[in-house]
Amino acid sequence: MTDPVARSAPGDKAGPATRSLRARRLPLAEAPNQLATLQALPLAREVEDALAGAGLWPLTPSGIEVLQINVGKVCNQACRHCHVDAGPDRREEMTRETMERCLEVLAATSIPLVDITGGAPEMNPSFRWLVEQIRGLGRRVMDRCNLTILETPSHRDLPEFFAAHEVEVVASLPHYARLSTDRQRGDGVYERSIRALGRLNAVGYGQGDPRRRLALVTNPVGAFLPGDQVALEREWKRELERRHDVSFDALYCMTNMPISRYLEWLIESGNLEAYLAELVASFNPSAAAGVMCRSTISVGWDGTLYGCDFNQMLELPVRGAPAHVRDFDLAALERRAIAVDRHCFGCTAGAGSSCGGSTA
Ligand code: SF4
Ligand code: SF4
Repeated sequence: MTDPVARSAPGDKAGPATRSLRARRLPLAEAPNQLATLQALPLAREVEDALAGAGLWPLTPSGIEVLQINVGKVCNQACRHCHVDAGPDRREEMTRETMERCLEVLAATSIPLVDITGGAPEMNPSFRWLVEQIRGLGRRVMDRCNLTILETPSHRDLPEFFAAHEVEVVASLPHYARLSTDRQRGDGVYERSIRALGRLNAVGYGQGDPRRRLALVTNPVGAFLPGDQVALEREWKRELERRHDVSFDALYCMTNMPISRYLEWLIESGNLEAYLAELVASFNPSAAAGVMCRSTISVGWDGTLYGCDFNQMLELPVRGAPAHVRDFDLAALERRAIAVDRHCFGCTAGAGSSCGGSTA
């Protein structure tokens, strides 16, 4: 495990949860201001140089295997570290019409996996319809779930819905301990998350059945890189079983991206420069070779195409290919150079970080 830059955690100072940057009308709500904040830092080298040194410049796709669909920024939570700046105050939602364009892309290609994300994707009124259509096309579906949404009255039947449609659930839980989780996500989130995990277990999730796969995603509660994924998975399985008798199939460790509300916290806590320096110093060529943008196309709530969800939040659309889902051109997308910037050091540090956890 990489030495922590600091041990203070998001939430230590300003309370357990927050409101979106946009609702607070902060300059950092604007993507260009986030990019400019990172650009102003003195870094030992640029990401282009690091990638070139690894023989990966320009960064190009290795073959598109995942269509990630971000169906909106609305969320029932407002976590301190959120890279989407999501929350109950956001209104951006993908329409049924844009979802239909995504389905046309799937029908015209053999992309095997659809990764549905948000916000809390289940809050989009067309979420269940979208899942049913994708399954009808014979593709795998992954839902990025915050767990607490399953405890809200209008979504309590989601575990049964997921099981009926064999949806892979990738659920975020910052830590197996209450304090660390509630610090980042808000008071009471841990309790509700554990109850939701129990109900997923009750319908067959998290017990080794590939049709009922349950993965947990953890990200460090503080300004440091994740620990070793294999060792952490063992520890998490033991602790969640011992403390709550709940089980899961896999743990994905993700590095916190220095953008959006996590960037806000890094600035407020005085950790920004040291955290970026740590990411740069931990550049790992193997992790860089496996970054998720090489195998993913990410669709924004308005249909714009990006290399990944982080580029989406920084408003860096694909270049060298049509950048809207209605004009989707797989061959051009696979030929293009991927847009990168300084935030990409978050994916290439240490054991790497992607939507599926470590990459190296
Ligand atoms: S649950 Fe996820 S999308 Fe919602 S605020 Fe938290 S980190 Fe953001
Ligand atoms: S932030 Fe996105 S574009 Fe940059 S390396 Fe990571 S996945 Fe690729």
